[in-house]
Amino acid sequence: MTSFNDFGLAEPITRALAEEQYSTPTPIQSDAIPVVLAGRDIVGIAQTGTGKTAAFALPILHRLAAQPREAARKSCRVLVLSPTRELSGQILDSFRAYGRHLQLTSALVIGGVPMGRQVRDLMNGRDVLVATPGRLLDLVKSNALRLNAIEVLVLDEADRMLDMGFIHDIRTIVAKLPKERQTLLFSATMPREIAELAAQMLRDPARVAVTPVASTAERVEQRVIHVERAAKPALLTEVLRNEQGQALVFTRTKHGADKVARNLSKAGVPAEAIHGNKSQNQRERVLGAFRAGKLKTLVATDIAARGIDVTGISHVINYDLPNIPESYVHRIGRTARAGAAGIATSFCDHEERAFLRDIEKLIQMSIPATDRRSGQQQDRQPAKHHRPQQPRGQQQDRGGHRQKRGGQQQNRGHRQPPRFGKQPNRHEGGRREAPHPVDQAAAASDIGQIAFMRHAPRKAHGAGDANRGTR
Ligand code: AMP
Repeated sequence: MTSFNDFGLAEPITRALAEEQYSTPTPIQSDAIPVVLAGRDIVGIAQTGTGKTAAFALPILHRLAAQPREAARKSCRVLVLSPTRELSGQILDSFRAYGRHLQLTSALVIGGVPMGRQVRDLMNGRDVLVATPGRLLDLVKSNALRLNAIEVLVLDEADRMLDMGFIHDIRTIVAKLPKERQTLLFSATMPREIAELAAQMLRDPARVAVTPVASTAERVEQRVIHVERAAKPALLTEVLRNEQGQALVFTRTKHGADKVARNLSKAGVPAEAIHGNKSQNQRERVLGAFRAGKLKTLVATDIAARGIDVTGISHVINYDLPNIPESYVHRIGRTARAGAAGIATSFCDHEERAFLRDIEKLIQMSIPATDRRSGQQQDRQPAKHHRPQQPRGQQQDRGGHRQKRGGQQQNRGHRQPPRFGKQPNRHEGGRREAPHPVDQAAAASDIGQIAFMRHAPRKAHGAGDANRGTR
């Protein structure tokens, strides 16, 4: 499909899309929307940044518009489960933006805020409910919400929900849903537990996928700076002082995020931190300032940053390298959004060498490096492609298609060599966690590259305002 008009979506939806300046569907949208409109279940392999929210929100909105019905009291027609408060708020914003010309009601159910307003919201029922699993179950347990009238269930970022320990909650929730329903599951990777869950929960699902890992790595200009751990704070200040634009700085721990933000502010680079220990109000205030461009530097942990969609982020800085290589790809995907250019700089100390090696294996390139350790030269040499003899997880699937871990396709033809750099030393060291096993059956086979479209930054639609329905 080359235009949103080709899907046969209700006119109020295509009008809202035109106002959002969406002209061309992204690949996941082209593939998923007709299938969801036809009423089928779906397994979508796609991460944030591919347009997956609209891929499920648009056909759901069409269904609600085509079959208008009052939602029953303490109930909802569509339930979207997502792992984090931020992502839930953004999904709700998308439903409200694309559904702004429809008379629909919606609500947000997330932890970290008092339950009273959410209970009141649900009293008269809602068409669309976006929720994190823990708070949703609390509301079910306190009889504020019944799940027996849900027509459509969406599980977004299912792999992240697994990482965050929500799998049991999800099973409990799904057991309370009607058997007759449409189920849409989206995940960036397909670990075994998620594939099993999908096999139990979905009926003859269609599989759609896009290929973010390689393409993200190619779009973003990447560099590594080898540095002693103790020199990281000064280096960060130096890097940020010299850069224009907005930067997202990643740390491994919540404590680390606070410390880095404090140090930066002391050094005259205003910065704020967001992570799971901050109150919802604090997180929304900081994210709001960042989105509005008033705050130039945001320090975040992986989980807090998940789903942050700010088009203006020009720099991602990995103050700490992640021990899970996929997290690196998620992190650098926070920049270069919607076709913009982006730079990702990673600080790598001696302990983190093993993490760097795993990242380079995953993205199949060596990242241009500079050495800032005392006594080392700052020279740069042409980078070489890292071509492991057998890319991890590459398998034949049942249909004979080539697969890569997480179900992403290989796109060797598109890979551009980095422009400069030198091969990082490959000392051993550091800890690492085992990556998820891959489900070999659930992978993409026939989906092309993601084309990112330029679009106007979305206006804030009040993420976190649990009470605001659109009716
Ligand atoms: P998502 O992957 O759903 O988080 O979407 C990533 C970003 O792409 C969001 O800012 C969306 O507003 C934007 N987007 C989604 N679909 C389109 C499209 N067809 N054209 C332009 N921008 C889009």
